[in-house]
Amino acid sequence: MWGQDDKKATFPRRRREDQHTHTSGGESGTDDKKDEIVPTLIHQVPNTNLLGAGEMSIVVISDTHGDHRKLDMPPTADLLIHAGDFTLYGKKEQVEDFNSWLGELPYRHKIVVNGNHECNAVWKGSVKKLLSNAIFLKNEFLELTDIGEGNNNTLRIYGMDFSWPCLGGNPAFEQIEMPMDILISHCPADGFVDNKMGCPALTQAIFRLKPRLVISGHIHNARGVATSQDGEITFINAATARGGHSFGQQPIIIQFVNADDSEQQCEENRATGRFMAVRQAFIDYFM
Ligand SMILES: [Zn+2]
Repeated sequence: MWGQDDKKATFPRRRREDQHTHTSGGESGTDDKKDEIVPTLIHQVPNTNLLGAGEMSIVVISDTHGDHRKLDMPPTADLLIHAGDFTLYGKKEQVEDFNSWLGELPYRHKIVVNGNHECNAVWKGSVKKLLSNAIFLKNEFLELTDIGEGNNNTLRIYGMDFSWPCLGGNPAFEQIEMPMDILISHCPADGFVDNKMGCPALTQAIFRLKPRLVISGHIHNARGVATSQDGEITFINAATARGGHSFGQQPIIIQFVNADDSEQQCEENRATGRFMAVRQAFIDYFM
């Protein structure tokens, strides 16, 4: 364990105003508004840094904890990413039903990583077989070349195994050298949609690797979108459970918009995204 002062001494925190600033705790946090479902959040990102030039939409979810069938999933998307904790304490019947549910979704690509609820499950050795309707990544790199409008985008994706926050370096992060567009880590990075409970070593790795998107969950009450100070990295906490493990938040949809758009349009898109994230933070916190 460490205090906030220790974390600050490691590297500067780069928090933006559109990050959630909930005061309640993470997975065990209390929530007075349990019955109100937080609606789907749509966030637009200019795709200037991607290899392709077309538009695409990515549905992002995490921490479904067995309640995947309660989600209001959009009818179409190019890619689904689940950032871990698809079960509650690794219940086998939940991973089996999760896989059936994945098979019913009409998206071309579905990617899943471990959360803390899966990494010690009795079936952990056969998770790829159990998740036959998705691509399961465990410290693995994946390149998709047929995604988005006109199938002309290439996405480089890295999915991490779960690890708890650590202050010093994490060998699992340090060995990653390939450039990537999307990094998936169940635990969020320190300083971004993490409710001050993210991983400092992960933040260091992210600013070295510079992915376009970082997709996490784990800290349920920090659900939302944040952006690095230079606007280059978008951090998403897509937890669909609220405080505790019960369902209460709908998916986050990331739309990559055309790089052909004028700079002004990109700025407008960024502003729209910021506005929506701030609005969502307001809804989460006050309503
Ligand atoms: Zn969780």
